[in-house]
Amino acid sequence: MPALILDGTKIAQQIRAEVAAEVRAMAAAGVRPGLAVVLVGHKTASEIYVRGKVKACEEVGVHSEKLTPPETATTQELLALIEDLNRRDEIDGILVQLPLPPQVDAKKVLLAVDPAKDVDGFHPMNVGFLSTQRPGMVPCTPVGVMEILQRSNIPVAGQEAVVVGRSDIVGKPVAMLLTNANATVTICHSKTRDLAGVCRRADILVAAIGRAGMITRDFVKPGATVIDVGMNTVTDPAEFERFFAGDARREETFRKKGSVLIGDVHPEVAEVAGALTPVPGGVGPLTIAMLMFNTVKAAKMRRGERVPEPSRA
Ligand code: NAP
Repeated sequence: MPALILDGTKIAQQIRAEVAAEVRAMAAAGVRPGLAVVLVGHKTASEIYVRGKVKACEEVGVHSEKLTPPETATTQELLALIEDLNRRDEIDGILVQLPLPPQVDAKKVLLAVDPAKDVDGFHPMNVGFLSTQRPGMVPCTPVGVMEILQRSNIPVAGQEAVVVGRSDIVGKPVAMLLTNANATVTICHSKTRDLAGVCRRADILVAAIGRAGMITRDFVKPGATVIDVGMNTVTDPAEFERFFAGDARREETFRKKGSVLIGDVHPEVAEVAGALTPVPGGVGPLTIAMLMFNTVKAAKMRRGERVPEPSRA
């Protein structure tokens, strides 16, 4: 039986609608959450991401500001800008779009963001809050993964979870969230021995690697839930054939655009997994929805309210 497809677009819409209702309730009390996005220079991919974030703010009623320092900005200039945003009371969330230009000390800039406004959840203080199960800001993509599992009624407690990838942005926080939700968690990386064998133990397999279609059917226990965080672009026709031969819809996209998106999970996994997030339309849409959630959460926490994650409210 083919895997149940976990529809991230639908779940993200649900969360955005909940956030919009929350924003309306806050407006009635005279509060409007505000997000500042700092976009340095002119990287096309970053500009597209930021456009999506600003549009999402408009849709849910969050105030947004885009700050666009030039590509030549120095660490000191960005620190001054962050300090200013930290001081402004109407700004609840500060997001520094990565990557920053090479002359900038990105770690120093991220460390300067007030942890209470750190809607990306990357500040070491928030990392510590997450690992010690204290209230704080949790990174958007990892918490989005948890929302998909919980809203799809996939049990987590007591399950074997394997996370492939140990980045600060995805792998480690996903593993921490799964641990906090009482899964038994294994983290894998490029030095893991017998990766396929370890992955086959998983009831829940999370792929956050950045390698097109690397997780093939021999990595997956029949019936497992597979969450594909990867976002890779296929432009080579031979590679396209290897992954998508016979997929008419994708063939048309490839013909028109010269590229298609693929996750870290090979399409053949749909024949083995019990449930699977598609790419596109799986984890991706959750990232922006959770950014909206985090901005409202920051606005509330800064005003002394405690905010549980949406599906645990
Ligand atoms: P990253 O920082 O490059 O980390 C990749 C991880 O995968 C590393 O821990 C690396 O191991 C591991 N890895 C690489 N090759 C491997 C191999 N052959 N076998 C086992 N492990 C291997 O990437 P990231 O930022 O976590 O992102 C991962 C993927 O998620 C990317 O495709 C990215 O585009 C995507 N992503 C999607 C969203 C979204 O909204 N959907 C958000 C963020 C990221 P080492 O630590 O040993 O090097």
